[in-house]
Amino acid sequence: MPTLSIIIPIYNEEGNIPVLYERLTQVMHKLGESYELLFVNDGSRDNSLALVMELAQKDAQVKYLDFSRNFGHQIAVTAGIDAARGDALVIIDADLQDPPELIQEMFVKYKEGFEVVYAKRRQRKGETFFKKVTAKMFYRTLARITTLDIPLDTGDFRLIDRKVAEVLKKMPEQNKYIRGQIAWIGFRQTFVEYDRDSRHTGETGYTLRKMIRFALDGITGFSNLPLRLATIAGFTVSGIAFLMMIYALVSRLIWKDFEPGWTSLILSVLFIGGIQLITIGIIGEYINRISTNVRNRPLYVIRETNVDEEE
Ligand code: UDP
Ligand code: MG
Repeated sequence: MPTLSIIIPIYNEEGNIPVLYERLTQVMHKLGESYELLFVNDGSRDNSLALVMELAQKDAQVKYLDFSRNFGHQIAVTAGIDAARGDALVIIDADLQDPPELIQEMFVKYKEGFEVVYAKRRQRKGETFFKKVTAKMFYRTLARITTLDIPLDTGDFRLIDRKVAEVLKKMPEQNKYIRGQIAWIGFRQTFVEYDRDSRHTGETGYTLRKMIRFALDGITGFSNLPLRLATIAGFTVSGIAFLMMIYALVSRLIWKDFEPGWTSLILSVLFIGGIQLITIGIIGEYINRISTNVRNRPLYVIRETNVDEEE
């Protein structure tokens, strides 16, 4: 069994795999611990898989899982955690935004007895203003609405002890938000800081759609506040509507003074309609996730691997 398993999700990273492999191998040799590089090919449409398989041919440290299609980054990492055999696992992006050299610092903390060492971003280079601002807002909002301490300005780049990995494997939720799960698991956690580089080559696999889905998974997985907000909004609007009813009745029956009132009518109809739709939408998001989990399908399908099942 290797000491370290490096888990690398791959989605169209052909331009980065050779450099990544070189840098990781160098770092590992410097550390002098036994290791495996576990590539999870998440349905890449470029030459990534061929490159990884070539590496596996000449380097026994290279393991791979090949998904039958694109299942998404979080699922790819999950599959890596399931297949990894090391005493400690490192999750790292393939695009070299996460510097492999930082693993050395993480390993030092691990040796000091920490079970989770996450990488905290001092700054992020080469990312759009939009991404930086929305990410910042999202993580801060999430921190407010959950009772959990999910560290700010971190991604999934981190080292986790086997104990943590074993707990993760027992968390069967389909909508993965791994950094939240790890925060939930606890243990002794610490961090190392780094400046996030821009992508070495290629383009981001996280489309806006994937980002929104990921954000919703984070929120619905770790907070029920949106549901409660729906209830609060419902009560507030009903309260206002009730006062309006009294006012309408009084002006009609007692003051005998009433306007045709089209404006207020249409406003309140639109307002209540809007609140109702939002509320139903929020409930839908949760129900959607309940039904996904009830279906209980396997999280991913592997087409091919060189990871030995027996081991
Ligand atoms: N990735 C993946 N599946 C996807 C999208 C991305 O496995 O559907 C991988 C990708 O190859 C990279 C990591 O997840 O190793 C982070 O993705 P990316 O760099 O595209 O995201 P960003 O850094 O822009 O948030
Ligand atoms: Mg990236």
